[in-house]
Amino acid sequence: MTNVLVTGGAGYIGSHACKALKTAGFTPVTFDNLVTGWQDAVRFGPFEQGDLLDPARLEEVFAKWQPEAVMHFAALSQVGESMKEPGLYWRNNVQGSLNLIEAATSAGCRNFVFSSTCATYGDQDNVVLDENSAQHPINAYGASKRAIEDILRDYEVAFGLSHVIFRYFNVAGADPEGEVGEFHQPETHLIPLLLDAIDGKRDALTIFGTDYDTPDGTCIRDYVHVCDLVDAHVLGLKWLQDGKGSRVFNLGTGSGFSVREVMDHSRSVTNRPVPFKEGDRRPGDCTRLVSGSTRAESELGWTPSRSTLDTMITDAWRWHQSGHYEK
Ligand code: UDP
Repeated sequence: MTNVLVTGGAGYIGSHACKALKTAGFTPVTFDNLVTGWQDAVRFGPFEQGDLLDPARLEEVFAKWQPEAVMHFAALSQVGESMKEPGLYWRNNVQGSLNLIEAATSAGCRNFVFSSTCATYGDQDNVVLDENSAQHPINAYGASKRAIEDILRDYEVAFGLSHVIFRYFNVAGADPEGEVGEFHQPETHLIPLLLDAIDGKRDALTIFGTDYDTPDGTCIRDYVHVCDLVDAHVLGLKWLQDGKGSRVFNLGTGSGFSVREVMDHSRSVTNRPVPFKEGDRRPGDCTRLVSGSTRAESELGWTPSRSTLDTMITDAWRWHQSGHYEK
C-alpha cells in the first residue's frame, strides 16, 4: 500500500481526505500537532503527532513511513485572526510549509498536493476567477498561502518537486456516513455558526456587513462539499503519480450564495428559524469569491456531486446533531 503523509489529517478537511485516501487504497499517515485538530478524527490510518515547526520530527516521520506523496492541509485558516495576528500566519503557514517541503525533497518524496485558497485572489470586482487570474490577497491568510505556492514553484525548478495546488472556495458539509465532520474551537465559519444559532447552542449569528455591493448587501461565496473537495485531492494525487506534472486547480462550483441566501437555505433545511443580527464588516473579507473555472472537471475528471447548498447544509446538520470529538 502506498503511504501518503497527510499534514492536518486530524482537522476538518484532512480527516475527510484520510477517509477518501483509505477508500482509494492508500495508507494515509496523519501528521498533526493537535492544536486545532482532534485525535478522535484520526480513524483511517496511523497517527504521528508533531509540529511542522520541528524539522527533526519531520525528518523522523519521513524516514519511518517513506511516503510517496504529501497532502498538506495543516494551516491556520481564519481570515479574521490573520488580520489581527499576521505573524502567526507567516510563521505557522509559511515557515511550517517550508520545513515540510524541505523535509519532503530531502527524503526523495517528489509528489506534493497543497491546499491553497481563493483568498489568494483577493477582491477583484467583475473578474472571472480562474487559475490564471492575478493573485492580490487582501488578508494575511491569503498572502501566506500565495507565498507557499511560490515556494513550491521554486522547489520544482531546483529539485523537481511536482505539485498540484488546489485553490479552495468555501468548504462545507460533512461525511454523509457521520464518521467525521467540521468541529473548530473556536468556530468562525458561517455554516457551523448558523447551525449552532439555530440549535440554541450560541446567540444569534452576526452577519458581517450588509452594505457590500451585492444584490442583498452581504458577501457572496462559492460553497463546495468537503467530500467532493477531497475526491479532487485523490484525483490530484493520481495525476502526479501518472507523471502529468505540476498544475493549479480551482475547487468551487461556480455558483455564488450570499450570507442571507445561506441563512434562507439553512432555515428551510432545518425547518427552524435562524436567530441573527446585522453587524459590521469583518476586516479582510472579500465581497465576492466565486470560481470561474471548470479545469478540475475537464482535466482531472472531477464531478462535484454533493455540492448543492441544501446537501451541504443537510450533511452538516446531521453531523452537528450527532455529537462531536473529545480532546
Ligand atoms: N460570516 C458572517 N458571520 C459569521 C461568520 C461568517 O457573516 O459569523 C460571513 C463572512 O463575512 C463571509 C462568509 O460568511 O462573507 C463566509 O465566511 P467564513 O468565515 O465561513 O469563510 P471565509 O470566506 O472567511 O473563508
